[in-house]
Amino acid sequence: MISGRVLVGQGPEELKELVAEFGEPGFRADQLIKWIYRPVAAIEEMSNLPIGLRERLARETIYHPCSTVTIRHSRDGTRKYLFMLQDGELIESVYIPEANRSTVCISSQVGCKMGCTFCATGTMGFVRHLTAGEIVDQVLQVILDVGSRPSNVVYMGMGEPLENYEQLIRSIRILNASWGINIGIRQITVSTCGLVPGIRRLGKEGLGLTLAVSLHAADDKKRRRIMPIARAYSLDELLDALHEYAARTKRRITIEYALMSGFNDSRDDARQLTDLLRGLLCHVNLIPVNPIPGGLHQKPRDSQVVRFENWLRRGGLEVSIRKERGADIEAACGQLRGQWEEI
Ligand code: SF4
Repeated sequence: MISGRVLVGQGPEELKELVAEFGEPGFRADQLIKWIYRPVAAIEEMSNLPIGLRERLARETIYHPCSTVTIRHSRDGTRKYLFMLQDGELIESVYIPEANRSTVCISSQVGCKMGCTFCATGTMGFVRHLTAGEIVDQVLQVILDVGSRPSNVVYMGMGEPLENYEQLIRSIRILNASWGINIGIRQITVSTCGLVPGIRRLGKEGLGLTLAVSLHAADDKKRRRIMPIARAYSLDELLDALHEYAARTKRRITIEYALMSGFNDSRDDARQLTDLLRGLLCHVNLIPVNPIPGGLHQKPRDSQVVRFENWLRRGGLEVSIRKERGADIEAACGQLRGQWEEI
């Protein structure tokens, strides 16, 4: 009895075992995996599988671990999804279409224990890790809704992906595999708040993905005020790990810097940031902070954001300002909460 086995998240070997347990020939596993990650909405649609096998799969397995509760549409085309998992927990994902690419931003945990003060997920606390199947299915659900595969996937939704390391790596392999969703490895970004051991471990995996690090302050004291993780790892330790990561992977690291008015947007802050990042293969992404209910941080004026960008540029850093997407539906950075009230 294979009761409760979830199909999304399985690889070729596991599916071979599954069809063997069902008394089916091995080639059925190849047919099945193509359907799983194509994807289709339901097992009944897997038209080249015998009806008896489809019925048994429908009875004894779960195809999609995520079911869509609501989809909110932003004026700019961004869509925010609220998904329910098999145990009733809720997570959110975001689809961001652009002129020549499209990105799905996915969650890796229900809630998050990192407690960053500018982030709505951080205020929820931690509930549980997601399985690789639950991570991957967010992308499949978006594909079913929009009708095409995204070019990019970013682990920037709810949760700290490096805390859920095994399932993160498993999900990346499925996203990237030719038998899976076939997203280019360079089009996959993992974003961390700065878990030093996880960064070092990821650097040794030999994957060519993009690492994004939430820095948000170039001074330990200041960073500790907004990011509790900074009490565990100093900026020195973090920068050491980033240099090691860049040396191993030869990949440019994205440094996320949420600009908060009067907190980290002064000329001195820019100078400190420039000094800290000098010599690191990186690119700074400035994100004017998105207000969250009850949050303390305010967005700087546009003119201050541009001034800050120029200071960094003059200091020799590569910089861009992240274009805000989906703020009218609370789908912008740091605004995901997985709540019913938003419906
Ligand atoms: S910013 Fe990321 S790591 Fe920090 S609380 Fe939010 S989800 Fe967690």
